[in-house]
Amino acid sequence: MSTTAAPLQFESTVAPSEQAGLTSCSDPQLLRIRRIGKQLFNVADCIVTFNNDNAVNPVMDTSSAAMDRATAFCHDIAPSEELVVVHDAGRHVSLKDHPSVNGAPHIRFYASHPIYRQDATLVGTISLIDHAPRTGFAESDRQTLADLAGLVERELEVRMLNASQLELQKKNKNLRRKSLIDPLLGTWNRGAIMRILTIEAIRCDKLGLPLGLIVADLDHFKKINDTYGHPAGDEVLVKVASRLRSCIRPQEALGRYGGEEFLIVLPGASHATAMTVAERMRAAIASQPEVINGVTLNLTISAGVASSDLFPAATTEELISRADTALYVAKDAGRNRVVNATPDSN
Ligand code: GH3
Ligand code: MG
Ligand code: MG
Repeated sequence: MSTTAAPLQFESTVAPSEQAGLTSCSDPQLLRIRRIGKQLFNVADCIVTFNNDNAVNPVMDTSSAAMDRATAFCHDIAPSEELVVVHDAGRHVSLKDHPSVNGAPHIRFYASHPIYRQDATLVGTISLIDHAPRTGFAESDRQTLADLAGLVERELEVRMLNASQLELQKKNKNLRRKSLIDPLLGTWNRGAIMRILTIEAIRCDKLGLPLGLIVADLDHFKKINDTYGHPAGDEVLVKVASRLRSCIRPQEALGRYGGEEFLIVLPGASHATAMTVAERMRAAIASQPEVINGVTLNLTISAGVASSDLFPAATTEELISRADTALYVAKDAGRNRVVNATPDSN
């Protein structure tokens, strides 16, 4: 509570060429508090400064294009745990030599109150600056300055809470995403593609649109594993998934249905469209060999296609089962081909 006559530590940050009077902080809430402080105390300025604090920096925009001299002066004074009142800096043992005291803007009166983080860490100050000395600083003034500091602390608390909530939401989103994605292929996993299928089937039904789906399976994949090893097999799967993905549009979905089996959901696709997409996929895999560890591999897929326009009463499970049956017809017929499930194909 005592008026501080003790030497204040400062280290000047003001470049002599800097002009006084430039706004130092663009944070609207801090500017509001600054205006209230100026008005309440009838001083030249009321300035909030923060130490370089890792928790404060991301939530308080204290950046400035050019720091005004009064703000630089406040920054120069190390924050104190106590209220500091200097009635006349021109007569103060250490402040009288500060360039903003013995030169422009000729600071005389200075009072500052500490600002704490919620965990009681001292993070900054709110300071009053005037160009004329003052003789007193009443108890009510001390209380009002403490109240202003409280406003800044409250603002800081709210922002840090918001920031940690945002961080948590981001983490949750990442976790949720991870739980839906196949870690090897980066495609939707089985659970996710099944949910997408259910949601899209309902949506297409409401809109009166068909829904097509493809079940695609690598041909003789076991042989690749057996000949070149499981890691080479993994690489093949990654390449195949990437080629399949390149055949569909953003509103269509590719999921890993099983080991080397993919389910592709095509909202709005009739059986003709779904067949076209499946054929495009087959060709994309067969058209060019894949080189894995210096070995050239000719890959092919077989695919079964089913669409709701040919099976209007079918559930999504029935549609998958139809496509699966068509896939095995394709396998039996010699592989590297696409077969469409038709109502009389069973
Ligand atoms: P088909 O043409 O009849 O489909 O024959 P295939 O050899 O492709 O099918 P099969 O079902 O006999 O073998 C599939 C193999 O895929 C067996 C399994 O070990 C392998 N596989 C499943 N998941 C993975 C994986 O994540 N990585 C690797 N490298 N292999 C896998
Ligand atoms: Mg296979
Ligand atoms: Mg298979």
